[in-house]
Amino acid sequence: MTKSYVGIGIDRCPICATDHTESVLLHKRMKEVFEDGNKVVVSIDLCPDCKAKRAESYIALVEIDEEKSGGYTETIKPENAWRLGGIAWVRSEAWTKIFDVPVPKDGMCFVGPDVIAMLEEMMPDETDETERSKT
Ligand SMILES: [Zn+2]
Repeated sequence: MTKSYVGIGIDRCPICATDHTESVLLHKRMKEVFEDGNKVVVSIDLCPDCKAKRAESYIALVEIDEEKSGGYTETIKPENAWRLGGIAWVRSEAWTKIFDVPVPKDGMCFVGPDVIAMLEEMMPDETDETERSKT
């Protein structure tokens, strides 16, 4: 009889880093991975909440520490991002009025705390334009 190992695989949201959509993984070679009962991130995919915001054409600005993430905000991968917890949502129509860079094609980007602070200062009351959530 051959041994098999079962573990839980999860999808992680690139925007809010929420783990969602669990799936059961079954693999002989995953013994080491599952031995201590850890869950394993199997893919980077939007969670239902962020997917809904994206469907309303909001762009996510995810607050990170650039230095600890090991690079410039443009090149940081979701799995390497050192998140500070802030997420700002900007409507894509508003994006071009605020920033002089094109709308990110995947609907999200990483920014430093200075950008989040700037957005808060610019639009303190326009909740239909930006929305901030702290996780
Ligand atoms: Zn999410």
